[in-house]
Amino acid sequence: MASNSNASSRSVSRSRTSGTPQMVCYHNELAPLRVVRHPGPNMGKRFYGCPHWPRTCGFFQWLDECNDIRDLQYQLLEKECIISELQHENDILKVEVGNLKKKLSQKQDVVDELSIECTERSLLMDEMFAKRRITYVLLFSWVFFAVCFWLKA
Ligand SMILES: [Zn+2]
Repeated sequence: MASNSNASSRSVSRSRTSGTPQMVCYHNELAPLRVVRHPGPNMGKRFYGCPHWPRTCGFFQWLDECNDIRDLQYQLLEKECIISELQHENDILKVEVGNLKKKLSQKQDVVDELSIECTERSLLMDEMFAKRRITYVLLFSWVFFAVCFWLKA
């Protein structure tokens, strides 16, 4: 039992140490993680520096900043994933819009045909009404003349 818990705690601490990022200096060599030893506001702070100290290449990076950079890189990766997902959705929507446009133009053709038929029919109706009106006018004038003729007689 006791040996088991020991093993698990050891594995956790190991994963923690491997969690610190590995940095490479301008010599393209692995930069060791160091601690500020001289007294001052930064004492005890951890940083990466060139392994060839004091003939350094000028590389210097605080560990906190590395973690910040890693966080930012992770956030950037997440954002890029979201962007690519959105682009994929956008492509799908574009295809759908294209299909709907096609359908719309087909329906528009039907509507155009129907409206042409409608105007033709309304023209026919107008013609019919005009003919009927002439018939009524003729009938009325005939009746009028007949009445006039009957009154004179
Ligand atoms: Zn270096």
